[in-house]
Amino acid sequence: MIQRLAFAIMVALMIAACGGADGSPTVAGPLKVVATFSVLGDIAQNVGGDKIELRTLVGPGIDTHTFAPSPADNRALAEAALVLENGLGFEGWLDDLYSASGSKAARVVVTDGIAPLEADGETDPHAWHNVANAIRMAENIRDALAAADPANAATYRSNAESYIAELQTLDAWVFDEVERVPEERRKLVTTHDTFGYFAERYGFEIVGAVLPSSTEGASPSAQEVAALVEAVRSVGVPAVFAENVSSNSLLNQIAAEAGIAVVASLYTDALGPPGSDSDTYLKMMQYNVATIVRELSK
Ligand SMILES: [Zn+2]
Repeated sequence: MIQRLAFAIMVALMIAACGGADGSPTVAGPLKVVATFSVLGDIAQNVGGDKIELRTLVGPGIDTHTFAPSPADNRALAEAALVLENGLGFEGWLDDLYSASGSKAARVVVTDGIAPLEADGETDPHAWHNVANAIRMAENIRDALAAADPANAATYRSNAESYIAELQTLDAWVFDEVERVPEERRKLVTTHDTFGYFAERYGFEIVGAVLPSSTEGASPSAQEVAALVEAVRSVGVPAVFAENVSSNSLLNQIAAEAGIAVVASLYTDALGPPGSDSDTYLKMMQYNVATIVRELSK
């Protein structure tokens, strides 16, 4: 009898936990979290651990600037309790997707509190290439998870603490590594303007990019291409860098005309596929820095 009563109470509690009176998502089971893109998803998974059920909308190797959401993305938002977004104009499609989904999830901009840079007259969204910003993102994610799921706040704090320690080690390593590039060679040319935050923190100059800070919109004119070739020649850039999320054909043309090498692709706006040398944020940064240092030190 006592057993049956206990069972009835348990069922009643489960029913109560499953449907908020206003239909809002509840926190029964792992917290349902949506992260907009792969870099952010990896940081969120490190902080959330097994307490969250994470869905990342824009996967590895895919360009967030030009992303077209699917019906499955719409459902993911509808079911989520929390949406983590980069902000700074990166996810231009998110507002429409969010309202179309009828989602009641809390939205948190994880770059809140960083010092935004400008690129091409607009806010530069690529904050994660500065590891200090990634630390701020991890802190904001920790606070957002703790607010959405207070029962597991201590776990989020402890996960964040260990992950942030790894990020601090990474940041110091980047500073040490770039020292190996002679100062006059710390110059970057890329397909789109994605390394502004990296350049600012670690002492590089952005000589130019084929495309502006978003990969959307028109291709550069013949004059713009010629001007970039001239810039690459005149400052004596040793190499230019391809990237994993956009077409590099114009970059190849510019490098050929300037008589320099295009080197292995960097991971810019997305991680590499699972199992690759860049399937986490930490590995992506290590890969990018090792590649930049190797090619510019030659
Ligand atoms: Zn970008």
